[in-house]
Amino acid sequence: MSRAKSSEIKIGLEVHCQLTNLMTKLFCSCSSDYRREDPNTYICPICMGVPGTLPVLNEKALEDATMVAIALNSDISERMLFFRKNYFYPDMPKNFQISQYDKAGGVPFSLGGYVQINKKKIRIRRIQIEEDPGKLIYEGTIESSAYTLVDYNRANIALIEIVTEPDIRSPKEARKFLEKLRSILEHLGVSDGSLEGSMRCDANVSLKGGRRVEIKNISSFKEVERALNFEITRQKKFMEGGLVIGQETRHWDEVRRITISLRSKEEEEDYRYFPEPDLVPIKISKEYLEDIKLRMPELPDDRTKRFMKQYNLLLQNAEILTRNKKIADFFEECLKLYKNPRELSNWLIGELLPYLHNKNKELEEIRVTPKHIVDLLKFIDDGTINRKMAKSILQEMLSTSKMPYVIIKEKALKKILDKKYVIKNVEKVIKDNPKAVEDSLVDEKAIHYLMGQLMILTKGKIDPKIADEILRKKLQLVKNRL
Ligand SMILES: [Zn+2]
Repeated sequence: MSRAKSSEIKIGLEVHCQLTNLMTKLFCSCSSDYRREDPNTYICPICMGVPGTLPVLNEKALEDATMVAIALNSDISERMLFFRKNYFYPDMPKNFQISQYDKAGGVPFSLGGYVQINKKKIRIRRIQIEEDPGKLIYEGTIESSAYTLVDYNRANIALIEIVTEPDIRSPKEARKFLEKLRSILEHLGVSDGSLEGSMRCDANVSLKGGRRVEIKNISSFKEVERALNFEITRQKKFMEGGLVIGQETRHWDEVRRITISLRSKEEEEDYRYFPEPDLVPIKISKEYLEDIKLRMPELPDDRTKRFMKQYNLLLQNAEILTRNKKIADFFEECLKLYKNPRELSNWLIGELLPYLHNKNKELEEIRVTPKHIVDLLKFIDDGTINRKMAKSILQEMLSTSKMPYVIIKEKALKKILDKKYVIKNVEKVIKDNPKAVEDSLVDEKAIHYLMGQLMILTKGKIDPKIADEILRKKLQLVKNRL
């Protein structure tokens, strides 16, 4: 965090989310599953803007956008129409982007709304549906690259643009907003944030006394906090040196982790917006909205409340788990095999999440299953290992994805078994086998028999030497009482 006071910082975000659940692009029938494919193989005359072709709206994209608007408490316009945003740039073969516009007779898809973060509401200004441009690929950095490659596989992929009011007061709050937004979109099932480039962001940031600076090209949510921290520190230093921060657009250089000046901000009129004549306006009826509302899946806030009620979790812990859909799903998968939600949540929140955070990894990247976690917790519950051992086993399990019993075996942790567990089982064997106990006072063979019973009871998970020692000690106590 920079030294600027949060009250002096205003941040607004413009988030672009691909609707990754769609089979096809926004206006043509090309597959939208373009990742890992050769460049420029998932294209057709429509997404290439060949004259004479006509776009047709993907109906499912409209459904997705409707669900997003409802989930973000945004008012959906009754009439939906598209505008052309004209610009000349190699990422858009048509030289215009089909988007939406809030002036000249246009309306955004929806207006207003908010995302709740703890007790604060971050207001949404508008939500729009638009097509993604192609992807520009530079050799090294944008400044030094001798050429630019362009891949149109991404051109015409369905995007929703979510624009916030400048309500965000710190880079950390921006990250929290984006985490919440991602969780909402993932709960809706419209967008998978773990796919490369599926959620991108532009940010505008201004400090008191300075103009608004826009940061473009933040290619993942993870980078946003970093980019904003850099930019705020930069502006603060300039202002301390008596320099004026003018309105401009800057580019986030992910490699060097700095923002660089790209161009002075173009004005809206430069885009010469006009209504898209190839797509008819669509009326969004009340019946349509009601139908979608009925099909809305459970959202993070509702899931938080359910977790508190159903699993008896504290609000804070329930919120942490539902902040990431995959973590919340994982938690509930574990509970199919393990019946102590509080204990489980403590391990996930106290150990698993910090590990993912420190390694900057997603859950699916570490190949740890619910069974891994549950086996580990069961080993604690039955006394095979203590908590301290469990923590170290967990760390190894997370980095190697080996099952807990394998790690226990490899580390020969059985030798340092919790004695309490042995004692507990020795006592049970003595209680259940009075005849053999009596015999053991005179007959060594009966001790071997009791030892066998102990091994059966503990499934051989205990160290025989320690077990023998404890068994003999306990038998001695019995003998002394006689
Ligand atoms: Zn196409």
